[in-house]
Amino acid sequence: MADATALLQLNHVSKRYDSLQSAEHLEILRDISFALRQAESIAIIGPSGSGKSTLLNIIGTLDRPSSGEVFLDGKDLAQLADRELAHVRNHKIGLIFQAHHLLPQCTVLENVLLPTLADKSAPAKETYQDRASRLLSRVGLNQRLHHRPGQLSGGERQRVAVVRALIMQPKLLLADEPTGALDRANSEEMAQLLAELNREEQVTLILVTHALELAKRMERVYELREGKLLQS
Ligand code: ADP
Ligand code: MG
Repeated sequence: MADATALLQLNHVSKRYDSLQSAEHLEILRDISFALRQAESIAIIGPSGSGKSTLLNIIGTLDRPSSGEVFLDGKDLAQLADRELAHVRNHKIGLIFQAHHLLPQCTVLENVLLPTLADKSAPAKETYQDRASRLLSRVGLNQRLHHRPGQLSGGERQRVAVVRALIMQPKLLLADEPTGALDRANSEEMAQLLAELNREEQVTLILVTHALELAKRMERVYELREGKLLQS
């Protein structure tokens, strides 16, 4: 059942990989259930290989669970056709990864506006331009709109990736080790920025990190261990 007050709800989600060599199944996620309300923030920590990316990819509609249900904004993701799933991914979810995945030949502004290209309505186009300018100023990049990613520092590039993830006004922002390629000072700044944007934009945030001091900036911290998700 979907909880009407939850933006995201997982019910008994498991993920198994079948082995070709033996009858053994690799069970990465075991019976995970939790719910998040709009504008909440959580961190998920856990050692390398514990299944953090697997879990985030399932929530982000990039992967499907072996069993269990995922409800996003009242919709059962398993019931959606590929086309509808692509729409949910583009409009409701913002993704940030360890690598920024910016296009090197496009400017900062063009990179940020990439997710909006599928939306053909003219009024929306203006809104996106305004939103892009506002958010880029918000993260301190108002002087860099027409620069290319190669002209920016690692921290600046990752801030562009954050703005690109927010441009469609998603309800859910998923960040998979977004500080993995940054030094300590930039990592702390990035975690601080994500926590601030979570409040300012009222976007629900899941931060995956293996740094506990960054995780503690979120409202709740969960640990993934042996396939189970435990609040720590
Ligand atoms: P984390 O992000 O916490 O480092 P991952 O979610 O990337 O962990 O991976 C969890 C486990 O799932 C790892 O042991 C990994 O080897 C395994 N795994 C991921 N994808 C596959 C796959 N397609 N087939 C088999 N095992 C996989
Ligand atoms: Mg990972």
